Amino acid sequence: MKAHDGIYLDGAWRPAAGRDVIEVVDPADEQVIARVPAGDAEDVDAAVRAARAALPGWAATPPAERAARLTALRDVLARRKDEIAETVTAELGSPPAFSQAVHAGLPITVAGSYAELAATHSFEEKVGNSTVLHEPIGVVAAITPWNYPLHQIVAKVAPALAAGCTVVLKPAEDTPLTAQLFAEAVHEARVPAGVFNLVTGLGPVAGQALAEHPGVDLVSFTGSTAVGRRIAATAGAAIKKVALELGGKSANVILPSADLARAVHAGVANVMSNSGQTCSAWTRMLVHRDRYDEAVELAATAAAKYGDRIGPLVNAKQQERVRSYIEKGLAEGARLVAGGPKSPRERGYFVAPTVFADVTPEMTVAQEEIFGPVLSVLRYEDEEDALRIANGTVYGLAGAVWAADEAEAVAFARRMDTGQVDINGGRFNPLAPFGGYKQSGVGRELGAHGLAEYLQTKSLQF
Ligand code: NAD
Repeated sequence: MKAHDGIYLDGAWRPAAGRDVIEVVDPADEQVIARVPAGDAEDVDAAVRAARAALPGWAATPPAERAARLTALRDVLARRKDEIAETVTAELGSPPAFSQAVHAGLPITVAGSYAELAATHSFEEKVGNSTVLHEPIGVVAAITPWNYPLHQIVAKVAPALAAGCTVVLKPAEDTPLTAQLFAEAVHEARVPAGVFNLVTGLGPVAGQALAEHPGVDLVSFTGSTAVGRRIAATAGAAIKKVALELGGKSANVILPSADLARAVHAGVANVMSNSGQTCSAWTRMLVHRDRYDEAVELAATAAAKYGDRIGPLVNAKQQERVRSYIEKGLAEGARLVAGGPKSPRERGYFVAPTVFADVTPEMTVAQEEIFGPVLSVLRYEDEEDALRIANGTVYGLAGAVWAADEAEAVAFARRMDTGQVDINGGRFNPLAPFGGYKQSGVGRELGAHGLAEYLQTKSLQF
């Protein structure tokens, strides 16, 4: 795989001060496919300075011109779609069709949505005798995970640029090649030098230096709750704004009147896609006791059919983590009806699509985020019990409700403590706010709500 041996700083690829390198591994065959620089605190400092210097010019650039750069960026991403998909498959391991449709396709849509919002959003409003100006918040530190490598980047960088902010991106260690491709695309789109900067590097080194840097005005982080908590504490001490997209343990609630087969199939597909490495995945399926056995059988059959069609997990550590959760499920008394802890292949970080039945709400597999292809099927007695179980974790990122009558599903969804709910298989909407209740995060991404995260207000009174 093609890789840059520098960091993208102030409009050009430049040698990193950090001497270490990160080896990029193809998780399907465990081979090293590229090496990228592991930037250090000095690199982060140079990138933040470049972003700071570029801020006044970019903030003063008319929104229509910012929109034009974002349109150009979307067009480059669309033109280089195949290359992006191949790169994501190489470093994340996702099957080519999924890389094309989702990993490469979704960021084009999101970049396009922010090109449009930059052009149409009202950055000024009248409130009584005041004019309220919506101004860019400043220099943004974007720290992203590997699970949707390009989407996570675009969901932060596109709204930040639309708002008039400048950015330093520290992408995940496992997927830096996609981030480098994105930097190339920004360059090709003729975004002015310093407006976007990329420092590849390790989380506790480059990531931490970036989150702590006094020249950063907003830290936008997606990743684990543990790291998010730490970033929020650091930012809080510096009175700095944070946006956090963290973990999830979402409930797929199948009400007694629902089309069971449809709900179960959609639920299994949702958990198995991207090998379960989706923070908003519906990893807990809640089924009424009268239909429970039928649902378990349907889920086990559906999961078995996925067999070889799902990709590996991103790395050996993640594979081990998921397998140990499966062991824990068995040890706590859950009943394995598909998959299991044994690796299905000799090579690569694969885990078989796994389904647990007889899972009770307090079990570890029903409480903690596994981030792998593991579904837990839980039994409820009545609607109140279903609601208690659905809301009974520290997370609240997403969820689903199924019922014969849409209004019945909506009534249940209104009582769920979560940021997004799909009603009877409702489609993903790239303009709908995405983000968590409770420990799933702070702030929202996507659409106008995502743009608002990067703006601050100034009121002029007349
Ligand atoms: P992670 O928290 O370890 O890493 C995320 C990013 O933070 C990476 O770029 C990493 O290098 C960086 N990082 C690590 N330590 C840091 C530190 N001390 N200071 C600053 N930055 C640091 O998470 P991960 O392993 O990449 O991703 C898996 C986790 O992320 C899962 O728990 C998943 O739920 C969560 N996630 C959430 C969402 C969401 O939208 N809510 C999306 C994707 C992943």
